[in-house]
Amino acid sequence: MVGSTDNAENAGAVGVAESSGTAKAAGTRTAGTTGNAGSPADQPGTAARGAALPGPDDPALRADCANCFALCCVALPFAASADFAAGKQAGRPCANLRRDDFRCGIHTTLRERGWSGCTVFDCHGAGQKVSQITFGGRDWRQHPDGARRMFEVFPVMRQLHELLRYLAEALALPVTRTLHGDLRRALRELDGLTRRDAETLLATDVAAVRQEVNTLLLRAGDLVRSRAPGRGGRPRNHRGADLAGARLRNADLRGASLRGALLIAADLRGADLRSADVIGADFRDADLRGADLTGAVFLTQPQLDAARGDAATRIPPALRRPSHW
Ligand code: SF4
Repeated sequence: MVGSTDNAENAGAVGVAESSGTAKAAGTRTAGTTGNAGSPADQPGTAARGAALPGPDDPALRADCANCFALCCVALPFAASADFAAGKQAGRPCANLRRDDFRCGIHTTLRERGWSGCTVFDCHGAGQKVSQITFGGRDWRQHPDGARRMFEVFPVMRQLHELLRYLAEALALPVTRTLHGDLRRALRELDGLTRRDAETLLATDVAAVRQEVNTLLLRAGDLVRSRAPGRGGRPRNHRGADLAGARLRNADLRGASLRGALLIAADLRGADLRSADVIGADFRDADLRGADLTGAVFLTQPQLDAARGDAATRIPPALRRPSHW
């Protein structure tokens, strides 16, 4: 979270499209190629009809703490737990937030001090958009009159940005080419929505937006899973399954659906998760040592950061190997 100059340090658990995540993410607090659908100007990351569609590696879909007013450290509530050394209410600045700027005073020692929940949180770029676009750079300290609305908009924007990130990933996959028209349309509409004013954002039926987008993401995930390498027979379906603590060592999970699955502390050592759909899966403390996550779709940095792994864990090239592995 806040205080790092490295965006990746602010990564977080997820689950907006499907489920799960840390308490903070739950609201109490990139593949680069494109398919051949459409003109080059319509591809993510390039100008399309006067607007630019974000690509999966777009900086706009990653936390940029330098341009954010520490919204994740103020707007979101969290309870004291194994992930957070102390709790706080929504709209109250965390006691560790520095008073002279919008940085965390302990960001280099968060894990050691019991704040690991902060190290696995990612706003997917929502923080800087609310700070700089929705509220035009007017921070909540100098403009307390707008603080409450800003704190209300942030969790809405975070959910929308997470969906943007998934849509951008799906659109960048050649295997989803039959969906590219729908994905592009959804991405454009959603991106436009995130640029509307605070009132419009607060009036948005986020659940309906999620449902609509999730239908597309489900189809995209199924296309990826259907091409899982070397897999005979039907890929496993563990959608929403409670696999907390499950013994899945060396399991063949190629092309499996693990959408929203609870994999907390699961033993996934040596498991083959290639081309699995892991959207919203909760990997907290899951043991991924030696596992193969190559081509896993909708895998996020926060999911990796929340898990355990080692040098033998294979991850998609767009993601970073967590420093604690
Ligand atoms: S400890 Fe507080 S200030 Fe630091 S990153 Fe976590 S919530 Fe933000």
